[in-house]
Amino acid sequence: MTHAPHPPFDNSYARLPESFYTRQHPQPVPAPELIRVNHSLADYLGFDPAWLESETGVGFIAGNYIPGDADPVATVYAGHQFGGWVPQLGDGRAILLGEVIARDGVRHDIQLKGSGRTPYSRAGDGRAPLGPVLREYIVSEAMAALGVPTTRALGAVTTGQFVVREDRLPGAVLARVAQSHIRIGTFQYFASKQDIDALQTLVDHVIERHYPRAAGANEPLQAMLAGVVERQASLVAQWQLLGFIHGVMNTDNMLLSGETVDYGPCAFMDGFDNNAVFSSIDHAGRYAYRNQVQIAHWNLAQLVQALLPLLDDDQERAVGKGQAVIDEFPGLVQAAYRNGIFRKLGLAGDESGDVALVQDLLELMQQHGSDFTLTFRRLAELAGTDENTGEIFQLDAAFEPWLERWRSRFAESEDAATRTSGMLRANPVFIPRNHLVEEAIVAAENDGDFAPFHALVDVLAHPFDYDANLERYARPPLPGQEVRQTFCGT
Ligand code: AMP
Ligand code: MG
Repeated sequence: MTHAPHPPFDNSYARLPESFYTRQHPQPVPAPELIRVNHSLADYLGFDPAWLESETGVGFIAGNYIPGDADPVATVYAGHQFGGWVPQLGDGRAILLGEVIARDGVRHDIQLKGSGRTPYSRAGDGRAPLGPVLREYIVSEAMAALGVPTTRALGAVTTGQFVVREDRLPGAVLARVAQSHIRIGTFQYFASKQDIDALQTLVDHVIERHYPRAAGANEPLQAMLAGVVERQASLVAQWQLLGFIHGVMNTDNMLLSGETVDYGPCAFMDGFDNNAVFSSIDHAGRYAYRNQVQIAHWNLAQLVQALLPLLDDDQERAVGKGQAVIDEFPGLVQAAYRNGIFRKLGLAGDESGDVALVQDLLELMQQHGSDFTLTFRRLAELAGTDENTGEIFQLDAAFEPWLERWRSRFAESEDAATRTSGMLRANPVFIPRNHLVEEAIVAAENDGDFAPFHALVDVLAHPFDYDANLERYARPPLPGQEVRQTFCGT
């Protein structure tokens, strides 16, 4: 018996009412060429990686070959962009091919990004330049390896077509995978149209797909919202713990599944700066590092607002129920963050003084612009020894008094080796540094050289395992290598 080269498609979203999407095929491209296939993800989803790398498979990623059981749609949504209401957005440069069930039974969307115009393209061309496709591939896969819920990259191809932005750039398509692409903005779209039936249909779909336990609760919608709040709290805490700045936390870029989505103007910070902003269009710093928790809270309030008509027939009671769910968020983020930061520091975190210790460390890091990732990584090394002789990174002498306070809080019951190995698993050494991402993009764009891209993706698949041969991937940028701005994928 031969195995099918791709898993069967089962398209639950395309079975929802027609007001949820427009049936639309990707627009074919002239000369697709493979960039990369994600073998382990392909395997998990039931795709034969060799098939994805074949001519038909490359055509599949490019949108030229549509399996017979796929049912391609462009989905509609709305959203708050930088706080301003936009009544209709939608997949303007993406097509949802359909859904497949992975080996563990979890349903996943297969979406093509950069696949041509749709009814939601507005003035856009529906295409994606190579750079943003490579950036999303690198950063989303790095996030997955770091253990952060995220959309994934199944594969990417170039199209053989140029896209015109400020320059003529090579075009590309990314095959993106998510547990679903349902956004806060999807609910907002139907709420603003006062389409209560559609809202209820969407709630039922999300509960069945992402929060099945909520179905058995006394108040399924409230239970679903509590689940959403919990997942977002955990997600944003993980971003903060890694120095990750999403950059465009619009309500159409927050998924109900709790996965990170939309790697446009995102960045991992190098030197710690609580105010860091990288997005070229975020002039007011709305989505700065220090604002991410508050913005996620605001976004969740928009979700609850959209669902008020379903929370209770009595408006006052509906508001009360919604508020109760939203009010859980700050405490949940704080708990998740504290848990994580104490793990990063090898502390039990049960002494009240530990919170002040964290505060003081962050203040020192801010003062010295200390590299976020390597400061924590170095602490992991220092948890087992008094010698400050890091090969790739040293802490400033000004950290000494803090180090002494820190060591005095180690649990006596734990030996140094256990503490260090725990910390080495909580503090990555390899992150997708901006200058490395930039280097990979420039080589591909200018010289058609994808070797730096492949090398970077390979290194980032093992973010916690240091290897002296890979030293250059761990180092912060040299002066002049620093990237201070990142851009949307449009
Ligand atoms: P984003 O900023 O990536 O979240 O995109 C915001 C909106 O603009 C979404 O509705 C996208 O579908 C749409 N969009 C972005 N880039 C393009 C493009 N090149 N062509 C058509 N629509 C686009
Ligand atoms: Mg988006």
